Amino acid sequence: MFNVFIGLGSNLGNRTENCLAAIEHLSDFTIIKSVSSFYETEPVGNEDQPRFINAVAKVNTLLSPLNLLNSLKTVESQLGRERNEKWGPRTIDLDILIYEDFQLDSQELTIPHKELVTRRFMLEPLCEIEPWLEHPTHNKTMSTILKELQDDREVVIVGNFYKNN
Ligand code: AMP
Repeated sequence: MFNVFIGLGSNLGNRTENCLAAIEHLSDFTIIKSVSSFYETEPVGNEDQPRFINAVAKVNTLLSPLNLLNSLKTVESQLGRERNEKWGPRTIDLDILIYEDFQLDSQELTIPHKELVTRRFMLEPLCEIEPWLEHPTHNKTMSTILKELQDDREVVIVGNFYKNN
């Protein structure tokens, strides 16, 4: 089984329900180990859109990175995501942040996720569940990367909506 961290985000419709529904779908092809609190976060890129709810899930899976990406894309379509503008609003966005210590840089998939080290909305929830995790290429813990982060966009805990076992 591989240890994988998945970032979830939603800023359309019932954002919390969308994230919870996505976690439910994730459990069809992964074992959910833990889920962070849900955070309300300022959008990146196009700022003229609603705030996001973001969270990070730690899962175990036997799927390869590309098969996992395809499964995540299927869940995104099942939850009604339409792909339009790059930075636009979305019902659900699912990203592979970390896949064990794998490193991959292709057109379709980059692991670790390229933006992980620059985005507070990914790092804060990740640090909540695994602060001592080493970043495979930066060779620092996630909590050190978070401490050194320059991103001052707002990231606020709104609640613990997924009940971890
Ligand atoms: P997004 O708009 O966030 O859904 O991302 C658009 C595209 O990014 C996807 O279709 C993926 O092919 C690509 N991508 C590259 N690296 C990743 C990653 N680590 N996790 C998810 N998608 C990725």
